[in-house]
Parts: sequence; structure tokens; C-alpha cells
Amino acid sequence: MTAVADALTADIDTAAALLASAHDVTLLAHVQPDADALGSALALGIALRRRGASVRVSFAEPDRMPESLRPLDVLGLVVPADEVPAEPEVLVACDTASIGRLGALAGRVSTAGATVLIDHHASNTGFGTHRIVDASVEATAVLAHRVLEAMGEPLDAAIATCLYAGLVTDTVGFRTAGPAAYRLAATLVEAGVQVEPLVRRIMDTHPFEWFAALAGVLGDTALDPDAAAGLGLVHAVVPAALVERFRSEEIDGVIDEIRGTAEAEVAAVLKQVGPRRWSVSMRAKGRIDLAAAAVALGGGGHRNAAGFTREGTPDEVLADLRSALTPDRVSDHNPISAAGG
Ligand code: 5GP
Ligand code: MN
Repeated sequence: MTAVADALTADIDTAAALLASAHDVTLLAHVQPDADALGSALALGIALRRRGASVRVSFAEPDRMPESLRPLDVLGLVVPADEVPAEPEVLVACDTASIGRLGALAGRVSTAGATVLIDHHASNTGFGTHRIVDASVEATAVLAHRVLEAMGEPLDAAIATCLYAGLVTDTVGFRTAGPAAYRLAATLVEAGVQVEPLVRRIMDTHPFEWFAALAGVLGDTALDPDAAAGLGLVHAVVPAALVERFRSEEIDGVIDEIRGTAEAEVAAVLKQVGPRRWSVSMRAKGRIDLAAAAVALGGGGHRNAAGFTREGTPDEVLADLRSALTPDRVSDHNPISAAGG
């Protein structure tokens, strides 16, 4: 093993020992939580609850669990943000690239007795007393699995399903998975994951009215071939009316519809979250560093999947985005690693 791998293993062992002896554990996902953040938190939470600890899982916003992920919470561990203790005994932040991504719960990092950070973002800024951060793995779920292994916790179907949900979404259906992630997937399926209904519910199910709305969004999608140092930018805008009317499962799927544009290295979706406020999702195909571009715009993420939130008109936000897709962020080709959240 390399020195880096040794250090990660030591960090995992230390955090596993802390969690194994904790009486009360609060696991947090980032705001607008996805399957990797909630799946990792719930997998660890289910195991800790079964060991006898008091456990809760939460996130600052929105105030409801994403509908498609509700079945992961078999023990009812998810609580509203206002039920998170003011001074948690042990806090675990999952898939959280920076403290700010905890939203209104960010302050718990300083009041908690200890904070374990488990994350795989290239842009991770590092916080907490215990850090398990590895940007080379495809999903936080991979690291959550390693913590469970170090705790000696057996995988049951419920835990495996939570981990699989994170793995399959962050690898965009295993498109970007390496051999170890495929081996982990096999282990999870052996533990009892029912793959097809799980993936259909999370990635492939939308209300009928969505398709007409999506047609409108796609009809207004625009291609800017000169952007991103001539590699091309395709962009779509989702107005607040649609963001409010449909679930995150619909809105966050728009990027997957346009990222296949042959003429564009970069795809971006501007989702309106306030009168002048936009949450922007970006995807690339390996030739430009979106994590660096997103950080320059106040956000974060991975090389091939990143995002940021910004004020302005759509044209102003797009101008900011174009100016961040600079030639120095372009390189010949980088194998796609993490390409989801
Ligand atoms: P998605 O487009 O799937 O929402 O996010 C892609 C990646 O970018 C994820 O890793 C996510 O954590 C990151 N990301 C998306 N939006 C933001 C943002 O507003 N701020 C930060 N720091 N990261 C973001
Ligand atoms: Mn993730």
C-alpha cells in the first residue's frame, strides 16, 4: 500500500473506533441531499442503531426527505433539522465538501464533541476532528462501506441498499466506476439489494406532467460552441415555477438529458431557487476541470461534476460561468472518475 492509502486506512480505523464506542450519533447529509449523502448517512446510522446507539440522520434543507429516497430509511432515523441536538455527542458529515454545505446545521460542527467528515469531493476544504476524505473514490458510499468494515459490521440488505443507492447514482449507473466499485456492487447485491426497483424509483421515475415541462426546457436549451476554450457549452434554464412544481428527482435530472450534447464539453443547468438566485449544475467529459471552475464561482464538486449557487440574471450567471471555463482549466484528457454528486 502507498503511504496515502495507509494514512486513509488509519483514519478509517480511528473513526470506526470512535463510532463503535459512541452512545449518541448524529449523521448529517449536505443540503439538497442526494442518494450518496443520505445513503451513506443511513447505512452508517442503521448499523449504529443496531449496535444500540441513539441515532438520528438529518439535513438542513429542504424540510422533507426526497421522495424516492424515503424507502432507504427503514428504521425511521431521519428527523427534521430542528430536532438535531444543539451539542451532538458525535457528528458525522457525509458527502459534504465544505462546512457551508451543511446549511443551517453548519454550526453543529463546532458544538459537537467530535465531528467525523466522510467525503470524496476534489474540492473538500477539510473540517472536523476526524477526516476520511478520498477524492479518488467514486462515491462517499465507498468510504462509508470501509468504515462499516472497520467496525466489523455485517452488511444486511437494508444497509447494502443504502450504499448501492449512493454508488449507482454517483457513478451515473456505473459508467464511471472502477474495478473496486464494481466489486463492491457485487458484494452489495449478494447482501440482498433489489437493484431494478431501487434504481427505477431513484433514477427512472417521473410524473407524466413532467415530460411536457421537460420538452419546454429542452426546447430552450442553447449551444455556445466558443465557450470553454472552444470545447463548447450547452446550457438550459429551469425557472422557479418548475423548481417549485416538481420534485428534485425531476429538476436534477435535466443535466443528464443535455450532458450528451456532442458539440459541447460542458453542460450546465441553471435552476432558479430565488428571484435572482440560481443553483447551477455542471457536467464535463474529462477535458476541463469543473471543480476548479466551480470553486472560483463560490461552489465546489468533482472534476467532471460540479456546481455553484449565484445571484443575478441568467445571462449574468452564464457570463460568470463562461469566464470561469478558462483555457488553463483544460487538459488533454483525464479519465472520468466521480461524475455524479
Ligand atoms: P449536482 O449537479 O449533482 O447537484 O452536483 C454536482 C456536484 O457539485 C456535487 O458534488 C455537489 O456537491 C457539487 N455542488 C453542486 N452545487 C453546489 C453548490 O452550490 N455549492 C457547492 N459547494 N457544491 C455544489
Ligand atoms: Mn457523492
